[in-house]
Amino acid sequence: MGFFTRLLVPHSMRRAAHPGRAVKRAITPKAVKKARRALHPIDNMKYSAERSIATSLRSGGRKRPPPTYRHGTCPVRHRSPEAAARCPNP
Ligand SMILES: [Zn+2]
Repeated sequence: MGFFTRLLVPHSMRRAAHPGRAVKRAITPKAVKKARRALHPIDNMKYSAERSIATSLRSGGRKRPPPTYRHGTCPVRHRSPEAAARCPNP
């Protein structure tokens, strides 16, 4: 729990949960404040971990960038061997 619900909640909803500072005090119930404070320290660590998992899931679980093709002294990382062959650089 916690993991997937976080993935599914869009950013706009999260912002809705944190309106401007002025109203924040007035409308935030005590229970929520307490829970939020209790969550906070771990939350940051957990968030960064979930963040990387979420990103890798979104990109199809592929962490490595697509392969590139280098040749000779050419500084360009070509997308295909054909492109490398066509390249005017030595
Ligand atoms: Zn090249």
